[in-house]
Amino acid sequence: MNSKKKLKTTCSYCGVGCGILAEVNPQAKVSVQGDPEHPVNAGMLCSKGMNLHYVVNDTSDRILYPEMRWSRTHPRQRVTWDEALDRAAAVFKSLIRKHGPNSVGFYISGQCLTEEYYIANKLAKGFLGTNNIDTNSRLCMSSAVVAYKKTFGEDSVPISYADIELADTFLIAGANPAWNHPILFRRLEKHKEKNPNTKVIVVDPRKTDSASFADIHLQLIPGTDIILYNAIGRRLIETGYADESFVKNHTENYQAYRKQVMETSLKDAAALCGITVDEIKEVSELIGKAKGFISMWAMGLNQSSIGTDKNFALLNLSLVTGKVGKPGNGPFSLTGQPNAMGGREVGGMANLLAVHKDLQNPQHRQDVADFWGVDQISPTPGYTATEMFDALASGEMKAVWVICTNPMVSLPNLGQIEKAFANAKFVVVQDISHRSDTVAYADLVLPAAGWLEKEGTMTNSERRISYLNKGINPPGEARPDVEILCDFAKRMGFRGFNFANAEEIYEEYCAMTKGTNIDISFLNYDRLKNEGSIQWPVPEYRHPGTARLFADKKFYTPSQKAIFNIPAQIENTSEKISAEFPFVLTTGRIRDQWHTMTKTGKVARLRTHYAQPVLEISRLDGYIYKVKDGDVVEVKSKNGIVRVRAKISNSVRNGVVFLPMHWGKQLENDLNRANNLTFTRVDPQSKEPDFKYTTVSVTKYQKP
Ligand code: SF4
Repeated sequence: MNSKKKLKTTCSYCGVGCGILAEVNPQAKVSVQGDPEHPVNAGMLCSKGMNLHYVVNDTSDRILYPEMRWSRTHPRQRVTWDEALDRAAAVFKSLIRKHGPNSVGFYISGQCLTEEYYIANKLAKGFLGTNNIDTNSRLCMSSAVVAYKKTFGEDSVPISYADIELADTFLIAGANPAWNHPILFRRLEKHKEKNPNTKVIVVDPRKTDSASFADIHLQLIPGTDIILYNAIGRRLIETGYADESFVKNHTENYQAYRKQVMETSLKDAAALCGITVDEIKEVSELIGKAKGFISMWAMGLNQSSIGTDKNFALLNLSLVTGKVGKPGNGPFSLTGQPNAMGGREVGGMANLLAVHKDLQNPQHRQDVADFWGVDQISPTPGYTATEMFDALASGEMKAVWVICTNPMVSLPNLGQIEKAFANAKFVVVQDISHRSDTVAYADLVLPAAGWLEKEGTMTNSERRISYLNKGINPPGEARPDVEILCDFAKRMGFRGFNFANAEEIYEEYCAMTKGTNIDISFLNYDRLKNEGSIQWPVPEYRHPGTARLFADKKFYTPSQKAIFNIPAQIENTSEKISAEFPFVLTTGRIRDQWHTMTKTGKVARLRTHYAQPVLEISRLDGYIYKVKDGDVVEVKSKNGIVRVRAKISNSVRNGVVFLPMHWGKQLENDLNRANNLTFTRVDPQSKEPDFKYTTVSVTKYQKP
């Protein structure tokens, strides 16, 4: 047999969730193209997706077998899987016996498949007895989760990509989809080409490619988002665009909202935001008269010390105008990672339980415990991402198991993360690549299977569940993550992990959804394989999936009404700029790299866009601080130093500098890491870190 194998699967990078046709030749080499039949991308792929095969075909960086060290003074050595997992089980048993279940924890990833997320949560919350399981999705969208939940009663994205083609006004807030959700943005571009009256408003302190495309770019002062959205709300009310019938019949707490937005005049709001009153009026008019109004947002809102409040202020614009539950209308948070949404469904955070159940609710805890056949779920909230590493640094937690993520580059305040790993008694890193900086800190390294080497499911930003096919075998002794976790669970003596494959795990999870608002109890692998992707809920046999929620205006709150949540803080709570640290640093992504570059960094053509990290600084600031284009600059915060080249840029406001977050120590040097500078300050409601506002100094670097 010498024929090529063709498979349908899904891109493993971002939350857009594009369909891919993968071809595997007899030598197990892979090529990819966009799936023309996929409803998300209709054959298109962005630069990252179309180069995915290079990542799979180059196995030179792969972790091929388990490695272990008996003490920190000895190098890691190759061991068998039995030795590796027996040691892990022995250490976990010993720590739990001596220090209790909360002495251990898991830090996992929005790139994990739903089955992996589910089984890791079942293991930690159901059987180890700890809620110390959190995910790098905490860093991306936990503010949106809290806001959706408090506004609609559950963490439920109301609309679909198909609503883009039905809308005429878009407000993109704190997001650069032209670079970070490229195929979604192509849909918007095409829609605008066909319908020139479509209006796009971008709110961002940076003039990104998305902002350049927009009809209106509000280049606001960082941290003033709530003041802006409240001012728009005020203007909508004053000019008669509030939907009184919707507000009266389908919302709660409107009077409190009205009171807050009326407290600040448009003139004051404009001055605080660094924009004009006319701009606020123009944007309000567009939103008010829109037949279809969609707001889209990402990290610019979420990654803030007032991230949840920013989300509330934006969501309130959809409520006050009644523009939700109707075709082409609704608030649409964009997920960054491919399965951030799937993780949310199975309770993949320290404060959540599966199927949108709440850890704080005793009945919900009992429901989940009964389903898993255990006595109880601990009521003690688990450590969230930054809390977990603080607990390791302080010695409260003793062991951490890191799966499919690279916290030594991606978490804020890397000095603290280094301390956490150094202080931990036992660190397990389960990953595919030695390119992850975190591997260097592991006492036990477990080789995992990567994309196309295992099967499972993911859910994209629009609640669309896709099946991911297995086309090739993993290299060396690497194994699928679910197999590793179930094997460990059995060595811990737990029942309930005897699954023959990922499909059986998915069936268990699907059964758990029965009767809930995310019911997919009639869904299975066969249907996903034969009919393609589908949007939850799928509550009946042959149900076609649900493109849009809340068409009946019945929300998931006890009163079935949506709730106006009032931001507790309208002004930013990050530290203020000072004479010592006069700039606001904002960090983010660039077009052709993904997270910490462990995959995209392998692809030569993706490194041509940005060969190295650069600090974007405005022309005026460059002049004042005597920094020229290409100079090496030293960027300092209270936490650390970065030394990179400067790029004089028209895209940042005066007083604001931008640095990409992708580069780590192993790939270049440790002075390239943006998170040397950032702080462990989090939003009090969502516990999402404040990556978008760090005060720094910038000086031209002179070699000593
Ligand atoms: Fe992959 Fe996202 Fe690009 Fe689509 S837009 S190809 S999902 S990285």
